[in-house]
Amino acid sequence: MLASTEPPGEGVSQEPRLPGHIARLELPTPYPVGPVNAYVVFGRCLTLIDTGPNTDEGEAALLDGLQALGVAPEKVQQVVITHPHVDHHGGLDRFLRHNPRARVLAHMGAAPFFGGSPEPRLGFYRQWLREAGLPAPLIPAVLEGLRRLGELEPKAKPQRWLQDGDLIVMGDGTWRVLHTPGHSGSQICLYHESSRVMFTADHILPQVSSNAIVEPAPGPGAGRPRTLVQYLDALRRVAALPIELALPGHGPPFADVQALVHERLAMHAQRLEQLLGRLATGPATVFELARVLFPHADHGQQLVLALSEVQGHLDVLEAAEQVRPDSDALAGTGAGDPAAGALVYRAVDAARRAHGMSGGGG
Ligand SMILES: [Zn+2]
Ligand SMILES: [Zn+2]
Repeated sequence: MLASTEPPGEGVSQEPRLPGHIARLELPTPYPVGPVNAYVVFGRCLTLIDTGPNTDEGEAALLDGLQALGVAPEKVQQVVITHPHVDHHGGLDRFLRHNPRARVLAHMGAAPFFGGSPEPRLGFYRQWLREAGLPAPLIPAVLEGLRRLGELEPKAKPQRWLQDGDLIVMGDGTWRVLHTPGHSGSQICLYHESSRVMFTADHILPQVSSNAIVEPAPGPGAGRPRTLVQYLDALRRVAALPIELALPGHGPPFADVQALVHERLAMHAQRLEQLLGRLATGPATVFELARVLFPHADHGQQLVLALSEVQGHLDVLEAAEQVRPDSDALAGTGAGDPAAGALVYRAVDAARRAHGMSGGGG
């Protein structure tokens, strides 16, 4: 389906028009997020941004969309991957079958998600889900879902690894790569300074708030990245730039990035308050808190997203010294099986009392 340079219809007059050299292709996905956007940037370096998912429907929609724009797949000179989630890069191998010569670019941190084995990741998630207090019988199904997603990743490897501050040519313009970790550790936004256009990918979405999905450390020896802490930093960094048109990974283009960022930050602040309020009544695991905040996210990918959301907010509260994980406390006071090895989070005041410390500061 094509949603590019047509003037907006009645009733959607808020949606800004794309410049003539950029087209948006809305591609179907089988995931709860709904369709994903790929973009074409026209000019001397004809560029495809993201490929959509690894499905027959996604591939057909991409090829149809390109054809409607008069773009033969073999004319695409480069494919820029915004981040290695399968709704965005899963279709890469399929696209390269139509054009094996296209150069592929992605952030250097994305390497394990191109032809890598999902096994090390699954080991990380097994451990984290246990610490999150997910009842043991639920863990295998979640890991199986993650394994199946991993199998949809492309085998092709990018020829160029990007990092923050790199300049790349797309179309006729020079675009700056902004590394904006959080939703994905290797998420990039692409910014054209003079026209104030930014491809925001999944870093800022107009219709849903981006999830700072818990991920393994980018390298050996590093601890689990505090993805929501990173995300909020990167969100403020992007909001400080002058942007007149934002082109997201899902949903329509939008203009007022600052207003949207403000809204998202307010939502996160409210969620932090909610969690603190709950922890004031007693310690809890990530899973127990997720049951309170997201009672309907009880399996599969939605459960991982809910646990990530809570973990992220606890990380923010921990960085602010408002909560503390307590690995030697016994988890499993709520519903479900007792979760051996779970981390219990306490509000810091309560934690101090439990350890016999006086005073309540903070
Ligand atoms: Zn994503
Ligand atoms: Zn996405």
